[in-house]
Amino acid sequence: MITKVHDIVIVGAGLAGLRAAEVSCETTDVGIISKVYPVRSHTVSATGAVHISPAPGENPEEYMRETIKGGDYLNDQDAVEVMAEEGFSELIRLEDMGIVFHRNIDGTILRASPGGMTTRTATIVSSGCAQELVCTLQEQLSKKRVTFYNEYFATSLLVEDGICRGITAYDIKDGEFYVIRAKAVIIATGGWGRVYPVTSNSHICTGDGTAIAFRAGAFLKDMEFVQFHPTVLYGSGILISETARVLGGYLRNAQGERFMQKYAPRFRELAPRDVVSQGMQREIDEGRGIEGKYIGIDLRKLKRSWRRAMNVPFFKQRFDAFAELAQTFAFVDIDKDLVPVIPGEHFTMGGIKTNIWGETNVKGLFAAGECACTGVQGANREGANALTECVIFGRRAGLRAAEYAKKAQLLNFPNDQVKREQKKIEALLNSEGPYGISEIRNELQEIMWNTAGLFRNQDGLENGLKKVNELKQKFKEIQVGDKSKIFNTALIYAMELENLLDLSECIILGALNRKEHRGAHYREDYPQRDDRNWLKHSLFTYNGDEKPVLNYEEVTIKNFPPKPREY
Ligand SMILES: Cc1cc2nc3c(=O)[nH]c(=O)nc-3n(C[C@H](O)[C@H](O)[C@H](O)COP(=O)(O)OP(=O)(O)OC[C@H]3O[C@@H](n4cnc5c(N)ncnc54)[C@H](O)[C@@H]3O)c2cc1C
Repeated sequence: MITKVHDIVIVGAGLAGLRAAEVSCETTDVGIISKVYPVRSHTVSATGAVHISPAPGENPEEYMRETIKGGDYLNDQDAVEVMAEEGFSELIRLEDMGIVFHRNIDGTILRASPGGMTTRTATIVSSGCAQELVCTLQEQLSKKRVTFYNEYFATSLLVEDGICRGITAYDIKDGEFYVIRAKAVIIATGGWGRVYPVTSNSHICTGDGTAIAFRAGAFLKDMEFVQFHPTVLYGSGILISETARVLGGYLRNAQGERFMQKYAPRFRELAPRDVVSQGMQREIDEGRGIEGKYIGIDLRKLKRSWRRAMNVPFFKQRFDAFAELAQTFAFVDIDKDLVPVIPGEHFTMGGIKTNIWGETNVKGLFAAGECACTGVQGANREGANALTECVIFGRRAGLRAAEYAKKAQLLNFPNDQVKREQKKIEALLNSEGPYGISEIRNELQEIMWNTAGLFRNQDGLENGLKKVNELKQKFKEIQVGDKSKIFNTALIYAMELENLLDLSECIILGALNRKEHRGAHYREDYPQRDDRNWLKHSLFTYNGDEKPVLNYEEVTIKNFPPKPREY
């Protein structure tokens, strides 16, 4: 066992983790651990936009109203206020670091309206969007006091007497076991799209940090709210971003009908993601899917607006990218064919409960980014608001953790917990049970898709919960085929599977209890939003081998009281 010490350890080197590191390393010694190299973090796949609003002279109310309306009024409005207030100064800071934002021909920053929003305030970063954000932040950190632990897997949090004292980790490269002691820990491990078989998320999105924080006593919040993006490529899950619909791409069923008119007469293809996804899935379920399986996005008619848009390099890049993705992964030509798409899991609104400074209920433990739930996204995230959440709340968590670490003592770590964790990993490595990892994972994904996917109901969810519990039992008798210590991906998959199982149980439990339709959570048996009984957050507490304890908490409402949905 190797022991390391830092003031702060950050788990996750995506956008939220790097943003937290960039501020906290000014005053404290920071270690940042990531199971992949930072530039391979899931953030880099975001190519749409980052919502930085408002600019001076713009009214922040419009952006806040849109975000809250999109979140179906489950948003904590103090958190939304923070995003609206700090957006523009954050844009300036990012520019100062060297991030180049796309410009209009007159030199002003290019803004656009993401799907579902009417404000033209999303800001587009040049070239690879989030890739540029990640690379620039990493470059900035290379000249600062930060130690990177790349290809290390965080396995548990060390918490005693309600205070977080560090983490345990496994070096994927050589199998060495680490204890990283710290005064404060920031979790920034992203979402858990891999709970579902169809997702735009990368393979590493398994919710590890959320699950280990949960097992260490942190509350999880609003886990039943999972966003499905309307347009991922059929067969591969690769995202065809909102830009395709923003610029006029239509959705068509097997009869060639532009069906979104039925489900969202006002906004049609640009209604919130949950509305478009549900409309598409209904078409497929009711037999109007192309080949019974998918919907076509029609980009053929775009030629005219496309040519106009070609003046702006961003749009040219995007269309070239759509054309290439469609050709490579769906074997179709966007000038001649419909591109086959289906809804796929895209974003997790719930996560580790934090306040607007990233603080959790465990002292010394902070969280930011997709793994966390400040309540800012409500029941459904608006396009381009995730990257904003990462930079604004990543920075806040970094600042607050540094403040805390400067005053806190480095406490002893709980030796018995460390030994237990070490034994657990050894037992997994030596496991010879009858059940394969992929067998359980495939079964889990199937159950989650069928029972806790786009459409949910009492019987399905009860059945899903029972089956997930059966899989949790099977997990105790798994087999890790590879016994080596060097790049043992089987062992990593096993640890990830345990995390996926715990988070799946929370999703189903939250969905089973919430008897209404709100945002991305759609109950066929309770198809209306019910503010009288359900305008509240779900809170999950870990309960060992028993099912999690579920409580509820008030939503912070300020200037935007709930209004009926309209699209
Ligand atoms: C295809 C796609 C396109 C998107 N486009 C947009 C967009 O245009 N605009 C927008 O606002 N949002 C977009 N989103 C959402 C947005 O990209 C994510 O919400 C955001 O990038 C999450 O960043 P993060 O820093 O929280 O986590 P991630 O970027 O997922 O980083 C997680 C980090 O945690 C590390 N990690 C995880 N588990 C462990 C472990 N056990 N041990 C050690 N390290 C660990 C990983 O290595 C990684 O470094 C998109 C999402 C997808 C799927």
